[in-house]
Amino acid sequence: MVNRECSFCGTKESSDTRLIAGDDVFICEHCVISAHKIFFGEIPEPSVSSSEEAFDQELLAPKELKKVLDDFVIGQDQAKKIFSVGVYNHYKRIFKQSTIADDTEISKSNILLIGPTGSGKTLMAQTLARFLDVPIAISDATSLTEAGYVGEDVENILTKLLQCANGDIKKAEQGIVFIDEIDKIARMSENRSITRDVSGEGVQQALLKIIEGSVVNIPPKGGRKHPNQDFIQIDTTNILFVCAGAFDGLEEIIKRRIGKNVLGFEQEKRTKSQDEGLFDLVEPDDLVHYGLIPELIGRLHVTAKLSPITQEDMVRILTEPKNAIYKQYKKLFAIDNVELSFEKEALDSVAELAIKRKTGARGLRSIMEDIMVDVMYELPELDGYEVMITKDVVTKGEKPLYIKKDKKSA
Ligand code: ADP
Repeated sequence: MVNRECSFCGTKESSDTRLIAGDDVFICEHCVISAHKIFFGEIPEPSVSSSEEAFDQELLAPKELKKVLDDFVIGQDQAKKIFSVGVYNHYKRIFKQSTIADDTEISKSNILLIGPTGSGKTLMAQTLARFLDVPIAISDATSLTEAGYVGEDVENILTKLLQCANGDIKKAEQGIVFIDEIDKIARMSENRSITRDVSGEGVQQALLKIIEGSVVNIPPKGGRKHPNQDFIQIDTTNILFVCAGAFDGLEEIIKRRIGKNVLGFEQEKRTKSQDEGLFDLVEPDDLVHYGLIPELIGRLHVTAKLSPITQEDMVRILTEPKNAIYKQYKKLFAIDNVELSFEKEALDSVAELAIKRKTGARGLRSIMEDIMVDVMYELPELDGYEVMITKDVVTKGEKPLYIKKDKKSA
């Protein structure tokens, strides 16, 4: 290889001194800095609020993290607790591990969230990421493929994370990767072992590589400019991976396992809610039977279970969280000097409709949007009115009640 040197100061290229190449000229980092000083003055020290320092000073306790989750995520108490401890331990491992000097190394604990669609899995991760000011990349496992197949390469998850960190590699390396629908890439279960489908297994293997902590070459976001800059290296050692899935049918596997120890008539006595409680008994082995590879399960040390959203919780989700949908509509109306209110029965009916859709709390927004669109169309003309949404508006599509407000209170 040709020995290249800086065309300005003559320093030779080495592992410590990198050169930028132009047409037949090279410049080293030191000369770049000198040039910057000549043109623009001193380069400011990196801001103290760099992610590491910020965390170092205020590593939040699990109880505080849970409190943040309580503001946005309704119910799911045990899952919020487990998730808060998991996140706390993760960042403690990164930033505080060295405060005790011994040879015990805390290993990385990634998180597995099991719960039906629309129960708050993504919301929990998003809420804490926003609060901790760490980037979060959300991907769907079903869109991932092994390298060489049509679809998204697993490494693209990291490209996404880097984009969410606005290109700040250090920040990305301490961020969160959320992989949804992890259950959908399970290989076929043992029942179908004769022609075992390994399609999901390849993706699981590829995921395992990045989850277990390694330096991964990822394609940069904007094209290829320089032959030596084809890839950006991301170290995944301190990235928190949160995998989530509904795991439909997992109850059967758990039931079969514990069934061996239960008398037949006791099994028959099981009610549906007891079956739902079965998720609490999940063991790594059940997930292997479901079709996740043991190595991947071995990297997901923390498991939290989320329950299906009840009708009562649907109403709370509509009205209680900090940015609850109901509060948002109230504000939209207030801007036009219109007061919005829902009868209790109307809220119950919205919740009932959402339960029927079987998409968890996800369905609430579109149901509300359908109900509100006609009123919002007229909103600017309703200045000084109170709009009351009754049950019949929700269930029969009737018109809301328009009540002219007292001039003084308007
Ligand atoms: P999933 O469990 O499928 O990841 P999400 O967390 O994406 O579901 O939930 C979809 C939407 O439903 C959220 O953005 C939020 O508005 C609402 N939601 C779901 N679960 C809850 C919950 N427990 N508390 C408050 N809102 C929720």
